Amino acid sequence: MGQPEYDGQIGASHDAPRAVVVLGATGSIGRSTAEVLTRHPERYRVAALAGGRDAAGLAAMAKALHAAFVAVADPDAYADLKEALAGTEIEAGAGPQAVIEAALRDSDIVIAAIAGTAGVRPTHAALQAGRRVALANKETLVCAGGPVMRTVREAGATVLPLDSEHNAIFQALGGAPFSTIERMVLTASGGPFRTWDAPRIAAATVKEALNHPNWAMGPKVTIDSASLMNKGLELIEAHHLFAVSASQLDVVVHPQSIVHGLVTFADGSVTAGMALPDMKVPITHCLAYPERIESGARKLDLANVGTLTFEKPDLDRFPALHLAMQALEAGQGLPTILNAVNEIVVAAFLEGRLRFGQMAGLVDKACQAVIAEGSAREPESVDDALTLDGLARERATALLS
Ligand code: MG
Repeated sequence: MGQPEYDGQIGASHDAPRAVVVLGATGSIGRSTAEVLTRHPERYRVAALAGGRDAAGLAAMAKALHAAFVAVADPDAYADLKEALAGTEIEAGAGPQAVIEAALRDSDIVIAAIAGTAGVRPTHAALQAGRRVALANKETLVCAGGPVMRTVREAGATVLPLDSEHNAIFQALGGAPFSTIERMVLTASGGPFRTWDAPRIAAATVKEALNHPNWAMGPKVTIDSASLMNKGLELIEAHHLFAVSASQLDVVVHPQSIVHGLVTFADGSVTAGMALPDMKVPITHCLAYPERIESGARKLDLANVGTLTFEKPDLDRFPALHLAMQALEAGQGLPTILNAVNEIVVAAFLEGRLRFGQMAGLVDKACQAVIAEGSAREPESVDDALTLDGLARERATALLS
């Protein structure tokens, strides 16, 4: 990625606190990160926080963590942010450029946890600056994986996987080169509709889709988890992170969410990454890497869990996963298009403009429309990927109206 390597300089001593930037600070991952940082004030200082529009939440977090700089993406939230920070030394900025500035503040690690494609530019800016980036924003790799990984190599940046499955796989690798991976399996909880029949899934409400059995996450990823689109996006993410092909990747449904990822090697050995489903575990792993520190998460007791079960995903009831697998195999910009279209379709579902069962069909239709007009192509740069992303959004929006 380059392969995250032990970096003696950072790991060797904690005389100076490690400087942290959190992008997406008021989202679910950002708040869990703040919890971990609060637990270890001697180890970390917060160089910058960036959030979308929650000025009050950002200001409160900035004060609690003694952040040096805070950026809010929505310019309309700037006045509220300034007012909430009045009387403090904390600098504030607003707009997309301020979020980039936060990403570029001098730091030892950037937590890239902005939801959706909005995270691509800031995350890429940090990588271009050669930073160590803990990547929770899978859309960065789904939208622009080729160009982003090229930047990682050229800038000498490091990506630590923060998505729980990819983090588990990274840990399961134990430093083994990616070339030793024969197969890689991501687990999926199966979401709230794992046992539902197709007609019931098709008619599911927003409330039912947001009711995830194991993980507390933001709305977009929770809907993607209910449709299994999330697992499809994660396969594409894994393809880029670990340089594995579509044929080496698999998904298994594991309702208990204890095993998060598995690696099979040539000799038949399988290593697994396990933990209770709590994002503080991968967050802390990335923050402290290669050290190990307390995360505040409960510890796994297998006897207490009792039973771990595994089943094949049902691609008929969960066609979104199938669409993502096809996009990964097809390449040619299809992952970029799929990701863009899916964001529009999920937003429409959350607004009550679509039934759950209509989403996959619309994603497919919009992707086909972009292919039919000859616009599908492998993005050569991040700008190129974002142009294709914008075009795909337009087609999806047109189809919705
Ligand atoms: Mg995940």
